[in-house]
Amino acid sequence: MVKTTEQPIFAKELKRETYQMVINGKSTQAKSGEMATVYNPATGEVIAEVPKANLEDVDLAVEAAREAFDNGKWKRYPVGKRARVLNNIASIMRERFHQLVEMEVMNSGKTISAAQGQVMQAIEDFEFYAGAIVGHCGTVNNVPGQFFNYTQKEPIGVAAQIIPWNYPMMMAAWKVAPAIATGCSIVLKPASFTPITAILLAEICTEAGVPEGVVNVVTGPGATIGTYLTEHKGIDKVAFTGETNTGKDIMAKASETLKRVTLELGGKSPNIVFPDADLEAAVNGSVFGIFYNTGQSCEARSRLFIHEDMYDEFMESFLDKTRKLVVDDPMSEKSHVGAIISKQQLDKIHRYVEGAKEEGATVVTGGHPLKVEGFAEGYWYAPTVITNVTNDMKIAQEEVFGPVVVVMTFTDEKEVIQLANDTKYGLAAAIWAKDQGLIKRVSDRIQAGVVMVNCPFSAFPGTPFGGYKQSGFGRELGIETLDLYTETKSVLSYAGRKPLNPLNL
Ligand code: NDP
Repeated sequence: MVKTTEQPIFAKELKRETYQMVINGKSTQAKSGEMATVYNPATGEVIAEVPKANLEDVDLAVEAAREAFDNGKWKRYPVGKRARVLNNIASIMRERFHQLVEMEVMNSGKTISAAQGQVMQAIEDFEFYAGAIVGHCGTVNNVPGQFFNYTQKEPIGVAAQIIPWNYPMMMAAWKVAPAIATGCSIVLKPASFTPITAILLAEICTEAGVPEGVVNVVTGPGATIGTYLTEHKGIDKVAFTGETNTGKDIMAKASETLKRVTLELGGKSPNIVFPDADLEAAVNGSVFGIFYNTGQSCEARSRLFIHEDMYDEFMESFLDKTRKLVVDDPMSEKSHVGAIISKQQLDKIHRYVEGAKEEGATVVTGGHPLKVEGFAEGYWYAPTVITNVTNDMKIAQEEVFGPVVVVMTFTDEKEVIQLANDTKYGLAAAIWAKDQGLIKRVSDRIQAGVVMVNCPFSAFPGTPFGGYKQSGFGRELGIETLDLYTETKSVLSYAGRKPLNPLNL
């Protein structure tokens, strides 16, 4: 039996000075008592402390998840009852929508409008999987008459879910909702920069009726506890979102015990504007495509390809709108661009921009850290547009993960498809055009898991999201995600009158 600290009731207030992990349905401190500080990246202020877990704490969380899975309570709930609990989670999140949004803004520095959309999507993810799981059935298959074959979907077991800092609540929902819908138990590890809304989500799960031990959250450094989770014998599956090299490391470590692995990794997504495109829609979508979420998005459209015939016209409007973006107080409804997550990330972005200049590129606007009035200790970067770029430059090949876009031109369809695909990544791509034949040809040939056609948005609950090539594998957010948390068992039976004797013995 898993024993955790005796703090069965979660604090009611969402905004706290100290948060605890959630292990076995209880608020749990790190065994060592060590805490880590969490900052507001927009102000640089300390907002809270969270436990700094070590391997012992991970063992406790995995044990709790294992026990919850093996005792079978959750996975044997009638599917409708599990679906009801997922809907309860969504309802509680709806009641606390504004507080959750506020916590997300405070912890991540993103704008309130971005946080509102993402928290709402997190809610809708639970609603979507509550519905989807009810129809997630096995099959009855065509076999010769005396035989009978059916399949059933069984939950994989205990999943470790490791998430990044750019969409803290939404990534937690993308992972938790399908996993628990299938009957799996989980140990969720949020990014060290942004642990708060993941902890709140786990508390809500418990409150909504998820049995103890099914949803656990451990907080601490990925390099130690994340690695340990990926190697842990008590874990059956690892679902990871983050940087491509971390994903490779995880895959190598998980291979030792042949864990199932899902990886949602980096991107350098092309945004292609053809000459027949609706100019205004293409400009608005392209500005959103790179500067939404302060460019800290795996699906950021960070390589802009403009057809030569409309380059001047497009750029005039694109630069005008970029320069008008409001980079200010994340809690203001007027802000378009928020803070950068950390000093390290800010420095990394600036190094990329400086490197681009050294490679011969031209910074047309932005290209420097910003001082925002009233937020002097925060981390801010000006929306940046870089031209005179060739696709082989570092700035066009590597993921900057900030508000920085490179612009290139093209003359024909074949050329732009070749350029768009000339990257190790393959997460997303956007096409702006009217010619339906061209749209179909380009969509078919683009190597990306997500193609946006005249559309600035990359995903809704129900649309599969994931990458080709080194952007990872496995799809999240779709119906098929449920398959990634289940095994298919095929049951083949013989129902003939005469017993079979295949070897004529
Ligand atoms: P990481 O990929 O390192 O981190 C993502 C998550 O994995 C975090 O929870 C992290 O924990 C954890 N983690 C780190 N190392 C390991 C490991 N060896 N084994 C298991 N888990 C691990 O991204 P970072 O946050 O460090 O950012 C690095 C760069 O990655 C950024 O500058 C950005 O360019 C890019 N990035 C890309 C993302 C994407 O979705 N494509 C998302 C986030 C970042 P902890 O936070 O404790 O380190």
